[in-house]
Amino acid sequence: MAGFNPYFCIALFGAIHFHFSGCRQWPPFVYMATVAINLATGSLQQEEIIVGIDLGTTNSLVAYVHPESHQPTAINDLGRGTIVPSVVHFPADGADPIVGAEAREYLLTDPQRTIYSVKRLLGKSYRDLGQHATQLGYKVIDDNSEGLVKIRVDDRFYSPIELSANILRELRARAEHALKTPVNRAVITVPAYFNDSQRQATRDAGRLAGLEVLRIVNEPTAAALAYGIGLDPDEEKTVAVYDLGGGTFDISILRIQQGIFEVLSTNGDTYLGGDDLDRAVVDHWTATFGLPEAFRTNPHLQQQLRLAAEMAKKYLSQHDDFTTHLTDEASQNITVTLTRAQFNDLIRPLVDRTIAACRLALADAKLEVGSEKREAGHTTEPSSASHSPLPAPKLDAVLLVGGSTRVPLVYDAVSEFFGQPANNSLNPDEVVALGAAIQADILAGNRRDVLLLDVTPLTLGIETLGGLLDPIIPRNSKIPTKAGRQYTTSVDGQVNLKIAVYQGERDLVSQNRKLGEFTLTGIPAMPAGLPKVDVNFLLNADGILKVEAIELRSNTRQQVEIKPQYGLTDDQVEQMLMDSLVNAKDDVAARLLIEARTAAEQLLYQVNNFTRKNRQHLTEAELTATAAQVATVQAALAGTDRDPILKAMDELDELTRPYAERVMNISIQQAMAGKKID
Ligand code: ADP
Ligand code: MG
Repeated sequence: MAGFNPYFCIALFGAIHFHFSGCRQWPPFVYMATVAINLATGSLQQEEIIVGIDLGTTNSLVAYVHPESHQPTAINDLGRGTIVPSVVHFPADGADPIVGAEAREYLLTDPQRTIYSVKRLLGKSYRDLGQHATQLGYKVIDDNSEGLVKIRVDDRFYSPIELSANILRELRARAEHALKTPVNRAVITVPAYFNDSQRQATRDAGRLAGLEVLRIVNEPTAAALAYGIGLDPDEEKTVAVYDLGGGTFDISILRIQQGIFEVLSTNGDTYLGGDDLDRAVVDHWTATFGLPEAFRTNPHLQQQLRLAAEMAKKYLSQHDDFTTHLTDEASQNITVTLTRAQFNDLIRPLVDRTIAACRLALADAKLEVGSEKREAGHTTEPSSASHSPLPAPKLDAVLLVGGSTRVPLVYDAVSEFFGQPANNSLNPDEVVALGAAIQADILAGNRRDVLLLDVTPLTLGIETLGGLLDPIIPRNSKIPTKAGRQYTTSVDGQVNLKIAVYQGERDLVSQNRKLGEFTLTGIPAMPAGLPKVDVNFLLNADGILKVEAIELRSNTRQQVEIKPQYGLTDDQVEQMLMDSLVNAKDDVAARLLIEARTAAEQLLYQVNNFTRKNRQHLTEAELTATAAQVATVQAALAGTDRDPILKAMDELDELTRPYAERVMNISIQQAMAGKKID
């Protein structure tokens, strides 16, 4: 029935607090250059070097950009190599802790006092850790609480922050020694999936080591920077960063444009890495060469076997055959061998698992490449819940990061999967630290041409009728940004509008995170649909959201500014994105049902208004029929099926259309009758 069509209206809501996850690392950086005069040369020189640190699960490195050559360089102090194993040993005599290769020697001989893989514990509570706590050689104190984990060595308790600080202190000392200058400031990298608490813990570890942490940078971002990607503001690139380290595997898809590093997706396995390749070799040898039981029980023999396996793995990265001798308890030599072909067979299932994760990451990033393209029918459907449908750009490069990518089978599998040769031209052990050094150099103000920006991780929008989210700033929008939409009222004479702001990817606000709300008051009473309310979102570079609502006819306005205070962790962001993908279909159904209900309620409101005002023009039978059909619509509304609601609405519309026309004619006749005709 014409004129009874429900308006598209909203019950408006708004924002009070907004936290831009991760943006705290990205304030516009103001650098006051400290300069000193080099008395020998009389030239001005930068007083301080800011170093870049890759604080890895297995290995850590420190790098810097050489002030003259401007080349990023990994620091090799005293010819000990650039790699510092992330292992801390507390000597039994209570002497100062030992860090690095020397500490690693104690892994099997003094496991209780030798801490490795501490990065896995960083920023984690006992509860986060669960069963993994028991898999470590040292004592993780487990009180099953929300508190952060502690590690016990003899009678002392250490937090993962303190232990990481030991590693950072060592890196700092090596840098100071090699560069012959104090090092007080650093950029430290973390995995892209690290949440707020893990990032904060990394910062704290830096501070404890006497370093001012200028920025926490994602490892894949650092790797891309090391490859020179993102340094030219005019280039636009999409890259995959495949990082297979000692105990972890991460795949990240990044889009880089105008200095913005956008993480399109991440995937991986926090318990898959080079150690597993070593273990596969150990198991193979144990079975094939009938190694005595002692190789499984005696720490020295275990150590010997593990080191031989790692040596075999590394050797086979360059050669085809490996042979070595193990010495058992009775000092008998046992010869063990491994060919590259055998090694490949052993590790293929592990490599396949990394490729499966790459496939998921590509799907999440809505990308198709190489071999994926040929698999017809396996492409991901664009999610209707996603508010920023991404184009499907091609993958410009695949970067290899992490020591384990030296394994030829890994290189081959990755290149084949992505349909292009992977890029391994930089040392995969050093690439993250080199990128961190470049970031440090940018922050030091030495590369003013480069601007690194961030994006919003989640969609921002407001609640509309029926509890639906109306997106205003889609996720992955560059910040600063500004966007707005116009709304109207749903009820005659409505003078207030509640504006509630939400963050998230789901269609229903109840599934998203509410940031806050405010009420636009003082709207002059007008029929429903007449007020024009502009709602504007302004998100500044610091991630502070300002929400403004203006009723245009009366110029009534209200404004709220929200400072980022409590935020979502990266994990929560990740979870929200995952939920939106998993629930996309359900969400669409829910949205359609809500829209039908909203339309039905609008129709009932209009019909009731009409019958109340025009009773005199309707017969008793018509009023009864209308009431009966109204009841049918109400009954349908009580259910959860959309179709009966739509059907009942159609019938009510059919039934009442002639009445509306009749009333219209009567009004016209009355108008005509009242007119004076010459
Ligand atoms: P993380 O980032 O986890 O700290 P790394 O990137 O330093 O770890 O990788 C360490 C892993 O790389 C170890 O398992 C080591 O055995 C492996 N690795 C180092 N060099 C080679 C090589 N030439 N061939 C195969 N694996 C290697
Ligand atoms: Mg690493």
